Amino acid sequence: MTLVEPSVGSAAETFRSTNPASGALVAEFPVADEAAVTAAVERARTAAHAWADLGFDGRRQRLAAYRGYLARRMHELADLVHRENGKPHADAVLEITLAVDHLAWAGAHAKKTLGPRSVNPGLLAANHQAVLEYQPLGVVGVIGPWNYPVFTPMGSIAYALAAGNAVVFKPSEFTPAIGVWLAEAWSAAVPDAPDVLQVVAGLGPTGTALCRAGVGKIAFTGSAATGRKVMATCAETLTPVLMECGGKDAMIVDDDADVAAAADAAVWGAMSNAGQTCIGIERVYATTAVYDSFVAAVTDQVRALRPGSDDDASYGPMTMRSQTEVVQRHLDDAAATGGRAVVGGSVDGGYVAPTVLLDVPESSAAVQEETFGPTLTITRVADAEQALELANGTSLGLGGSVFAGSARRGMDLARRMRSGMTSVNSVITFASVPALPFGGVGESGFGRIHGEDGLREFTRAKAITRQRFPLPVALMSFGRPAKAADALARVMGLVHGRHR
Ligand code: NAD
Repeated sequence: MTLVEPSVGSAAETFRSTNPASGALVAEFPVADEAAVTAAVERARTAAHAWADLGFDGRRQRLAAYRGYLARRMHELADLVHRENGKPHADAVLEITLAVDHLAWAGAHAKKTLGPRSVNPGLLAANHQAVLEYQPLGVVGVIGPWNYPVFTPMGSIAYALAAGNAVVFKPSEFTPAIGVWLAEAWSAAVPDAPDVLQVVAGLGPTGTALCRAGVGKIAFTGSAATGRKVMATCAETLTPVLMECGGKDAMIVDDDADVAAAADAAVWGAMSNAGQTCIGIERVYATTAVYDSFVAAVTDQVRALRPGSDDDASYGPMTMRSQTEVVQRHLDDAAATGGRAVVGGSVDGGYVAPTVLLDVPESSAAVQEETFGPTLTITRVADAEQALELANGTSLGLGGSVFAGSARRGMDLARRMRSGMTSVNSVITFASVPALPFGGVGESGFGRIHGEDGLREFTRAKAITRQRFPLPVALMSFGRPAKAADALARVMGLVHGRHR
């Protein structure tokens, strides 16, 4: 089962996705209405039982078949990503590679992370076996964005499936064909469990219907503004939520940093994917010692970038017009508040010129709000402490980067950065390490995908005790002898009483 058709009797509304570079039609799909979403979730509920019964090894084998399928058809999917999202083919290949890697990790580590284990029963329950295990939630609803239409939803889908859940996925209305392709690939690669991964295509209301459909959890990735609406809808049914929202990630460049490496990383972190990266670098705080050389190195590189839709372009068009409007507003606000663009600063149709902004005040929208475009502000600071204070000064806190010569200093700054993830002497690396959890703080959201935490996110902890033999004196019984409390107090005195 892949695309859910509108239910019988409902208006056969459709919607279209287009190529952001040419405006050409990419695909047209029926909108999945409430009835269609409910039906998909019902099918998933049935499928989830058999999927859970397969056990970790059975699921691992099928997840391997899925990743094998994706790897074999890498170019076909990358071509679709290029057409529907606009990013260069090579960047799409990189994105799919990351997703495949996560599928492999999730499948390989689910058993060890979630399977039953005995834990120490403690003193009072010494005659019991204590077992902890992580059980699937049943059906997980995944609501995804358009900017990394394969990698981002797969960060939830792979981990939810490996943990034993079925998934109903609502892709972004800007990249529905990619979502449908992923579900069709699942049906082809795992023909004995097609309803375990289904897609419901549609706009916001389709996502709302998924929130109300009685799923075990909603894994939402998108803007903080939509995240609030998703939480409000899920509150109606006490449906738990995972929130992967936007970022305003900062890079700190310390006195002893490798300036050339920092500049190279900042430009890639800010401009790749046309800056439409939740963990993209949007702000740099460079100390006085390195500021001038850093700005020179960045501007040199940025001048060589060229947006376009061909294979050699540095990055593609903005995926949708509304995004160019946000970037334009931030550029205008930066200019109006004393900032200046030393490179770029213009928006031409669907393309934003690679832009470096200097002297932008901290209060500006270009520094405080997620821009999601190929722009970078660079701010001079006295030292790394001031850089850290400013880096931590927005309501968002997703990722970030520190460039420092001293490993100790770099790690210290990384720990104190108010974000869920930080890379030292590189950008974005944390996202490529499947064993590391991914998620933010503040308005960037809560909960984690990837790694062991990402597997546990799609489960509920189950605690079981099993009495192995009865004790001569049962403490939790109305039949206990009167002196049992004295004996217990004496034992406690011996075990804990010596601690002062
Ligand atoms: P968005 O918030 O506009 O939409 C996200 C998804 O929510 C879409 O599928 C949309 O159809 C759906 N939706 C819209 N209204 C809804 C409603 N009322 N109820 C339920 N679902 C609804 O986000 P976007 O523009 O698609 O994506 C860009 C944003 O995503 C950026 O802020 C970016 O930083 C963020 N993002 C975060 C991560 C992360 O892992 N933290 C990853 C990628 C993107």
